[in-house]
Amino acid sequence: MRQPLIMGNWKLNGTKASVEALINGLKAPAAAAANVEVAVCPSVIFLGQVEQLTAGSAIKFGSQDADLHTAGAFTGENSPVMLKEFGCKYALVGHSERRTLHAETDAVVAAKYVAIQAAGLIPVLCIGETLEQFEANETNAVVEAQLKAVIDVAGIESFANAVVAYEPVWAIGTGKTATPEIAQTVHAHIRAYLAGFNAAVAAKVQVLYGGSMNAANAAELLAQTDIDGGLIGGASLKVEDFSTIIAAA
Ligand code: 13P
Repeated sequence: MRQPLIMGNWKLNGTKASVEALINGLKAPAAAAANVEVAVCPSVIFLGQVEQLTAGSAIKFGSQDADLHTAGAFTGENSPVMLKEFGCKYALVGHSERRTLHAETDAVVAAKYVAIQAAGLIPVLCIGETLEQFEANETNAVVEAQLKAVIDVAGIESFANAVVAYEPVWAIGTGKTATPEIAQTVHAHIRAYLAGFNAAVAAKVQVLYGGSMNAANAAELLAQTDIDGGLIGGASLKVEDFSTIIAAA
């Protein structure tokens, strides 16, 4: 049985005051959802604050990215070792905004995934197709290639200690959600593809859905057999919306 994981990706949002209000507001909903894991991914600048605010609570947290190096002359980067020291459990890797806005290739994503695991963090590997690829029926091929790039470098066994997030790029921040049927079909395909390498690992890995998940559509998406949770952007910035999604899991 896979534990549901509801994860907020705050992206480039927040102030000290809003972070405090959000974490404090989420403590009770996270505690009430006993069999659901709740996590948030703030901007790294808030990690120290989030570490303090979440102490003793049920809320876990992670970073939105990590460098593939652990230390050295890499101005502006954040080492996975530093993220671990600040109490992160997770690190997102390969988010579509990193792939497109920061030109991260499959090779860079794979190297980051390895570095994140080496530091003792759980990578949340984000994959998904663009609208153009979706319309050309290339979704399966795209997610397979994105997974294969990591399997080739890190091995299928590494997925025993990783999370996969399927985020169709056309659904991110657009208000257009994949229908539960479309999402379930892709999630099942992801699991079947991984099972071709190692069935036991594939059966256990959590596959999250991301892309305009909100308080109104979460229950139907989360009810699907192969959807093990959500990676939520916009709706994770409001206590009420995020709490509704947590309760739906
Ligand atoms: P939205 O929920 O705002 O569409 O963002 C999804 C996402 O990119 C989460 O990583």
